[in-house]
Amino acid sequence: MCFPTEHIPFCALARSRRYTVILYDGCVPTRAPEKTKLTILRGRQLVQHPWLVHGFSTRVGGFSSAYRKGDLNLGFTKDDSRAAVERNRAAFLRQLGAVSLRDSRARNQPFWPVVTLRQIHSDIIHCIESVPREPLTGDGCITRAPGLLIAIQTADCLPVILVDVRQRAIGLFHAGWRGTVKRIAEKGAGEMFRCFGTRPRDLKAAIGPGIQGCCYQVGEEVRMKFYSQFAYAEKLFREVKESDPVREKYPLLFLTARAPGHSELPKKIFLDLVEANRQQLLAVGVPRKNIDTSPLCTNCHPELLFSYRAEGGKTGRLIGVAGVRG
Ligand SMILES: [Zn+2]
Repeated sequence: MCFPTEHIPFCALARSRRYTVILYDGCVPTRAPEKTKLTILRGRQLVQHPWLVHGFSTRVGGFSSAYRKGDLNLGFTKDDSRAAVERNRAAFLRQLGAVSLRDSRARNQPFWPVVTLRQIHSDIIHCIESVPREPLTGDGCITRAPGLLIAIQTADCLPVILVDVRQRAIGLFHAGWRGTVKRIAEKGAGEMFRCFGTRPRDLKAAIGPGIQGCCYQVGEEVRMKFYSQFAYAEKLFREVKESDPVREKYPLLFLTARAPGHSELPKKIFLDLVEANRQQLLAVGVPRKNIDTSPLCTNCHPELLFSYRAEGGKTGRLIGVAGVRG
């Protein structure tokens, strides 16, 4: 039985740092999984397609100790040992089910190859027909080749999976603010149309865990970039005036020529990256009901997810993956 993600108490989840959230591992909802159990998050609608392998990793249930003992770090970061990351990747792929069971290669290489990119916050998208010989640079992959996984590494940015359920084609995109302002999700749907004839109405989308509107503070220059690109930019930002106890106690220190109460208070600007990417998918014609978004904020849940911001830049990597069964 599937439980729709809408049933998650979103507010409680976004605000609480206590670990009492409901997670989704396939169709099985689990409450606060054991800290040692490898946990994979999946899109509610994407699990309905047996030909599709997909998932978003969490940090629990691994073999790394560079950041915290038992982390499932899936990126070859400078702090972690290569052996630990390889062990983590093998455990992740096994649990994901990306294993070539009946293949003659099975004994030597049981897992599907993983195609990762050298990510540069661009709008470069590659169409993958087989495992590339040289590492590719870019921030999106599309494919319909069976038996391989395309992957995006994140630690606050959003991984976005697009699935053409008619053509059995998939896309995976890396959407931080830079990729989002360059319209990587929109362009991804466009590339799938160009390469596979994908119709937007056949697309299902899962936007994975990343830093959310509760925590993603950005500068005025980022807001201006979005305002110059998107007619709906206003709904992507939230502004909070900073209260300042010093300013309140000693108002004379901050005296200006303005009328009382009209001095500018410093403000914090927050960007809703999930909504920005959802709007892009809607703009290209993906039906609203086909878009699932994870409510999990990386910055709010460092016990479950890696967050670049929450951990001051020294952190592991999550991956979002998708693949087509042959
Ligand atoms: Zn948050």
